[in-house]
Amino acid sequence: ILSSALDTLHGRFLLVLLLGGPRGLLLCALDGRIFINNEWHESISGKTFPTYNPSTLEKICDVQEGDKPDVDKAVEAARAAFQRGSPWRQMDVLSRGRLLHKLADLIERDRVTLATLETMDTGKPFLQAYFIDLEGCIKTLRYYAGWADKIQGRTIPVDENFVCFTRHEPMGVCGAITPWNFPLLMLVWKMAPALCCGNTLVIKPAEQTPLTSLYMGSLIKEVGFPPGVVNIVPGYGPTAGAAISTHHNIDKIAFTGSTKVGKLIKEAASKSNLKRVTLELGGKNPCIVCADADLDLAVECAHQGVFFNQGQCCTAASRVFVEEQIYPEFVKRSVEYAKKRLVGDPFDARTEQGPQIDQKQFDKILELIESGKKEGAKLECGGLAIEDRGLFIKPTVFSEVTDNMRIAKEEIFGPVQPIMKFKSIDEVIKRANSTEYGLTAAVFTKNLDRALTLASALQSGTVWINCYNALYAQAPFGGFKMSGNGRELGEYALAEYTEVKTVTIKLSQKNH
Ligand code: ADP
Repeated sequence: ILSSALDTLHGRFLLVLLLGGPRGLLLCALDGRIFINNEWHESISGKTFPTYNPSTLEKICDVQEGDKPDVDKAVEAARAAFQRGSPWRQMDVLSRGRLLHKLADLIERDRVTLATLETMDTGKPFLQAYFIDLEGCIKTLRYYAGWADKIQGRTIPVDENFVCFTRHEPMGVCGAITPWNFPLLMLVWKMAPALCCGNTLVIKPAEQTPLTSLYMGSLIKEVGFPPGVVNIVPGYGPTAGAAISTHHNIDKIAFTGSTKVGKLIKEAASKSNLKRVTLELGGKNPCIVCADADLDLAVECAHQGVFFNQGQCCTAASRVFVEEQIYPEFVKRSVEYAKKRLVGDPFDARTEQGPQIDQKQFDKILELIESGKKEGAKLECGGLAIEDRGLFIKPTVFSEVTDNMRIAKEEIFGPVQPIMKFKSIDEVIKRANSTEYGLTAAVFTKNLDRALTLASALQSGTVWINCYNALYAQAPFGGFKMSGNGRELGEYALAEYTEVKTVTIKLSQKNH
């Protein structure tokens, strides 16, 4: 489907993709530069950094490396675009919504290209990028396009000769720091509500996967967003990322990534200007399978829940609790699934699992697998890298896992399924909740009482009953405890991108 070539044109790095698709041959050029004010810039330091294809370990291209001075420039542009009287502030709300719809149209038009870039940069299967990541981007943009003209305050009854109402105003300049596991989707989860509420943005994509975010810059310009509304500064976390989280002229920051970095960002926000913070962080998500569950469904959902996206999901079903009566059968079927999972070239349509994102994550996963073996879990299958194949890891299932083992406590972020046994509902609630995380939980049962008891007792931002990873643009997503602050998606996310202003008017006469 693809051949790629790197070209240098007028000193600029261009990635040329030749794609054979249903609409014939498409030629697309991507500029790996910094996007500020609807223009492409080189980094002030003159530095660049490489981005690699984790499937072949080859360099895809070099990208301009942004740092604090580039972030300052981007913030200046975003602030100017937010000033009173600017084209963006003057734009009527319906037109704002129309721009978001147009962006969704262009993503639909360039869907093959974007999915290809995402697959090259992340190693995720192409069909997953095309049908899941891109689908999510388009639906999220269309959902928030519809909200643009419906963001409204309230009239509040107060003393009789006063009129009081609220306005839900944009916060201002929003920083977005995004991860490498769903680069474009996590960007859109932040960008769509931020723009629909009238904010401007400075975005820093993860250093491993900057390409689709940069491509988005060219679409932002083509759609006709005024200059400075969206700015994209690729670079590293401790430099460009920290410049955003510590910036005194950024009003809000939205972050998806590790709990460790989430803490740093919240700390930086409080030490600088108390900017608003939303965080989507890690998870060690319980997936509870009761003896009365539809076993075929539960086995398949638990399998997809943990192995999806090479296990690199904050929602990963990484603690499977199975009721003791069905434990042996559940383990047997889960192992059959894992052994059948096709690992290989992400551009092969049959591939279900690609490589891990980079050497650091790969080493961490193998180290955790070793800890599972040493701590006495039973390795049912996998447990190794695929020899001579770079960053690929065999789908791994552990049974006889106990709660004190590292594989039951730490976020693995890899293709490893730890399966535990439970006896009673009260016991499993306690065990499921005994973690610092609280992102998602899943329950498999046909018994309504049990389903609802668990739904209310589990401490997590999402509970899925008889399904997994059922995420919708309309429904809020976020974490309890150390899995995060605030909510993305749905109407709830609008509150994360607006300030409430109370306007109180004293009338000269009583207001009967
Ligand atoms: P992982 O450890 O899985 O790579 P991170 O949480 O480190 O995930 O990365 C998520 C995002 O956070 C990336 O865009 C990364 O560059 C950024 N980041 C990392 N460190 C910092 C930091 N100190 N300040 C701000 N952003 C950071």
